[in-house]
Amino acid sequence: GDIASRAAALVRDVPDYPTPGVVFKDITPLLGDGPTFAAVIGHLAQQAPEVDLVVGMEARGFILGAPVAVALGVGFVPVRKAGKLPRETLSGAYDLEYGSAVLEVHRDAMAHGARVLVVDDVLATGGTAAATVELLEQAGSKVAALSFLMELSFLEGRSRLADHVVQTLLTY
Ligand code: IMP
Repeated sequence: GDIASRAAALVRDVPDYPTPGVVFKDITPLLGDGPTFAAVIGHLAQQAPEVDLVVGMEARGFILGAPVAVALGVGFVPVRKAGKLPRETLSGAYDLEYGSAVLEVHRDAMAHGARVLVVDDVLATGGTAAATVELLEQAGSKVAALSFLMELSFLEGRSRLADHVVQTLLTY
């Protein structure tokens, strides 16, 4: 079948994780299937605009973003949770369901005006992606597109990324 249906068949619904009432989409069966993983990475790379760098968010954005960067022949920049990067960082706070969190990127990771592709596994409320865009724009980068394996459309994350190109393989 096509890439989307092969990928969808390897995403597991986990009810009540991490909290009661939430249905968590588990992509580890997809990652564990070599041909499907490779096809998904190929798809994300093939639909990518021309970019200078790929940025991935901790932690599953690393798993997908790094091989996309290699496929495109460009570098990879990690956006990490607070306190993980060893040198000078830019940071941005964002709201979670309960409380808030901070994302960081190395201040010198991107040249001014660099065109970047943001990659993550799931677009849910869009909080993580919006905070990442803010961080990258604060660093002087241009976000050429954001690419996700899947979008939980009922959470309307796209509305928080309204000015940007958003690409997703699967929509729930
Ligand atoms: P958001 O900030 O609400 O859009 O949530 C997106 C972030 O949470 C991403 O970094 C995802 O890795 C993670 N996430 C949210 N929901 C799920 C899910 O159902 N499966 C896997 N990851 C998820």
